[in-house]
Amino acid sequence: MTKVTFNWEDVRDISFPPTCHVKHLELDSYSDSFEGHNADGLLDGLLWSCRPETLWLELIWEDCRIFAKVLCEKLLNQNNRESCCGSSPAACWVHCLKDVKIALLAGSDWKALNCHSLSQALPTLTESHKISFNFKW
Ligand SMILES: [Zn+2]
Repeated sequence: MTKVTFNWEDVRDISFPPTCHVKHLELDSYSDSFEGHNADGLLDGLLWSCRPETLWLELIWEDCRIFAKVLCEKLLNQNNRESCCGSSPAACWVHCLKDVKIALLAGSDWKALNCHSLSQALPTLTESHKISFNFKW
């Protein structure tokens, strides 16, 4: 099993291309290579390198539930990350994020949530639920 990590200090001497903006990003999981304990590094690396307007998670994939949980935790703790990208030449995704709107799709009904309410609802959601994160960078 490969552990996905992302640490700015590990790549500080590498020249990065400009962050790309992506209209729609959908995360699927088809193998056991993405497991829950890797969600933190995968999320940081993914959102540091591209800035999607929309991130779409289908809960048919159990890993997407874990990914949503980790994303909510990061968003809820963003005020505790003052020094996370202080020594890097580019601000991290958390500090570039201006706003996020979360919507839950159940059947044909959309319901607006915030990180706290989504975190609480996650254990009760089923495979038929889909989550949309709309980011404003
Ligand atoms: Zn930061």
